[in-house]
Amino acid sequence: MLQTILAYGRGAGIDVRWLVTSGDSDFFKITKRLHNGIHGSTGDNGPLGTDEHAHYQKICEQNAAALVSEVKAEDIVILHDPQTAGMIRTVLAQGAIVVWRCHIGLDGQSDVADRTWDFLKTYIKDAHAYIFSRKCYAPDWLDENRLCIISPSIDPFSSKNNGMDTATAQAILAQAGIIAADGIKAPPTYVRTDGTTAQVQGAADILRTGAPPSATTPLVCQVSRWDRLKDMQGVLEGFANFVASSGKAHLSLVGPVVNGVADDPEQVAVYEAVVTAWRKLPNEARSRIQLVCLPMIDIEENAAIVNALQRHAKVVTQKSLREGFGLTVSEAMWKSTPLVGSAVGGIKDQIEHGVSGLLVEDPTNLEEFGKAILHLLNDLPQLESMGRKAKERVKKDFLASRHLEQFGALLVSLVDKVS
Ligand code: UDP
Repeated sequence: MLQTILAYGRGAGIDVRWLVTSGDSDFFKITKRLHNGIHGSTGDNGPLGTDEHAHYQKICEQNAAALVSEVKAEDIVILHDPQTAGMIRTVLAQGAIVVWRCHIGLDGQSDVADRTWDFLKTYIKDAHAYIFSRKCYAPDWLDENRLCIISPSIDPFSSKNNGMDTATAQAILAQAGIIAADGIKAPPTYVRTDGTTAQVQGAADILRTGAPPSATTPLVCQVSRWDRLKDMQGVLEGFANFVASSGKAHLSLVGPVVNGVADDPEQVAVYEAVVTAWRKLPNEARSRIQLVCLPMIDIEENAAIVNALQRHAKVVTQKSLREGFGLTVSEAMWKSTPLVGSAVGGIKDQIEHGVSGLLVEDPTNLEEFGKAILHLLNDLPQLESMGRKAKERVKKDFLASRHLEQFGALLVSLVDKVS
């Protein structure tokens, strides 16, 4: 998302750039705990006490020292997510205008979330402004006058979302090993964000029994990080128990290779739990489900495979137990692919139930989830009509142009306030 917004900023003549922070494994354990906690989830049940404060602060100060060497007084610095909150004080001391953007949150109240916000409070309280994706995500002690609500967005021109015809999508998926290559003649070509063309070379790491599904097999898929809150295991069990026995559909659970997300210490365990659940399935259900780990060496190639999947799938799911926004939802909707999503967090902002997809009220209800998938698979006219409306919805509200206007307005108001 930032790649797009920053490029527009530079195009408008603003000297904007980004820096990526780093940390050690203890730091990422703490920040994953913060991430889970803000979602109201206990995660690894670990503490957030004095030792964690000390380590978190130490790493944030190291990152802040690298940042302030690039920053002048009155520059605007936008820091993202709990990983950077501990940098705010140092950057403020440099005389910069500091905005803290938090992409996650919880719909309701939770003691775990309150305790997590208590940890973060001391770090974030002095920022000039806060951006949240939804109003209810902001803790109630934050100054409302400094609060700005901006939903994320997708870039229709990126390799994740740019146009791709059916034959090319199939060729890319065949090259990646996700569907069978029989009869596919088109080259696996995609357009990179810089406008050059390339061909998908890499293959996914796939766990399945037997041959890949054919290009004409109806495909249900979920693309997510291997994170417990994305509930890949729930998708697997819901599909196996309530979808696999009716019809011919196959399921692909798709995430990055498990060492592919540097700041997520839980991904290996989550992936392994999904594999264990997959191994326990009856043969017939197991033969219809594949676990796909996408190569991350070239992120544009990875994006092109995701693009092809979201176009090729008949139904995309986002069965998250919690969800800050869920970019994968807008990504699939933009490709006119309807979704079955949990009625949580930002998924509710994107899917209008019964119009541009289906929402499942209780994200743990596997039967309702399975029924919703079957309902869409069995009603082709409705599937197509929802797909068209899904694209319209994203065009209206979730493209980078809207995001950019809101960002611009916030930055202008901040400069006015301090000058
Ligand atoms: N994604 C990807 N490759 C993968 C898995 C996920 O490019 O193998 C992308 C996905 O397309 C989306 C982002 O990662 O753009 C995930 O964003 P989302 O808001 O859905 O969830 P988050 O991971 O931020 O919680």
